[in-house]
Amino acid sequence: MENIGHGGKEIVERVLPKDAALKRLNELKAAKAKVLDVRLQIATEVIDIAYGFFSPLEGFMTKADVEGVCNNMTLADGKTVWSIPIVFDISDDELKKSGIKQYDEILLTYTGNPFAIFDVTDIFTLDKKEIAMKVYGTTEDKHPGVKRTYQYQDKFLGGKITLINPPKINEPFTRFWLTPKQMREKFKEKGWEMIINHQTRNVPHTGHEWLMKGAYLGAYGSMMVDKPRGGILVNAIIGSKRDGDYIDEAIILCQEAQGKYGYFREDTFLTTCSLWDMRYAGPREAVFHACLRTNLGCTHHMFGRDHAGVGSYYDPYDAHRIFNTLPKGSLNITPIFNLDWWFCPVCDEVTYMGLCGHKDKKASFSGTMIRSIIQDGVKPPRRIFRPEVFDLIMECAEKYGFGDAFVTEDYLKRRNPVFTIEPL
Ligand SMILES: [Zn+2]
Repeated sequence: MENIGHGGKEIVERVLPKDAALKRLNELKAAKAKVLDVRLQIATEVIDIAYGFFSPLEGFMTKADVEGVCNNMTLADGKTVWSIPIVFDISDDELKKSGIKQYDEILLTYTGNPFAIFDVTDIFTLDKKEIAMKVYGTTEDKHPGVKRTYQYQDKFLGGKITLINPPKINEPFTRFWLTPKQMREKFKEKGWEMIINHQTRNVPHTGHEWLMKGAYLGAYGSMMVDKPRGGILVNAIIGSKRDGDYIDEAIILCQEAQGKYGYFREDTFLTTCSLWDMRYAGPREAVFHACLRTNLGCTHHMFGRDHAGVGSYYDPYDAHRIFNTLPKGSLNITPIFNLDWWFCPVCDEVTYMGLCGHKDKKASFSGTMIRSIIQDGVKPPRRIFRPEVFDLIMECAEKYGFGDAFVTEDYLKRRNPVFTIEPL
């Protein structure tokens, strides 16, 4: 019973071993199965489904699932909480040209190489505006999640997928990408029973560090000194980027550095990544993150100020309040709600909105402030940035970012892909 994921079901793993995969591939070829080459966005979610990151999903959603998600925040069964549609879109033209019909078994390829088998059980259309309104609370295409929704093609395919060719995760991400089952093995090895997830797409400044430390103390005050039974999992989101995002390499390596340089004990700290394109759905994305981290085996999940929000679409604490609206017992993970952390010059330390009485003197860790520190390249006080982390940001900018710690067009064009699918 140890591999129980979100929805109370066994973690999904739909990956064929190599021999079986080759056999199925030959059968599909002999049967002249239709072939579709997928883009990165879809390939990423095929991998997530196949390894159980999206358990209990076994494939791309059917229309009934998408409607359940939009209207009731559940899958089609009416009880499994799910907040964001996971869909496979296809253009009318491509659908016609390929001749794909309901109940076809098709071969998916990525960058031309055999990748997965897709059992198409549903072909349907969706009202994109309605999805935007219900999932994101707005129909404005300035919202990146809404924009992604509007960019979907006009038809959708639903059905189970089976991976026949596992991805090769490229450096420097290789050691950070663990499947839900591997993650659970790792926790067992470490003897962790309490695992607090920290969601991030940032390099860590001391505000983040204290956010994690606060959550740890709150959740686990009675830590045993000799044999810790719990720890913090930093699970960085690696996926599609927006202008001004940190480069993925800097995010993951700098998060790891907090353990490497002793700001966290290595036996109570672990850095990993998951592949996911942020939707910035605020409260609904918070619920999705809770489901994802349940599947990774976490027991607790931190939700900070404006979790997964964008612009001013959500109140900074909507992503906390949404958990009160879910039926009791529908999630198998305990949320830890964090208020704002800031640097207070009077307290002379990083402190917490719920504690510090000098709100008018606070120096917030705003994105703009941190960005200008990094762009100036002048080492900030260690109370703001740990020197080892700061040096590593600069190193990553040179090594991976073509001179920039933030995403540029150049980076998007020239970067080494996070994963590749090799010939089978
Ligand atoms: Zn203060």
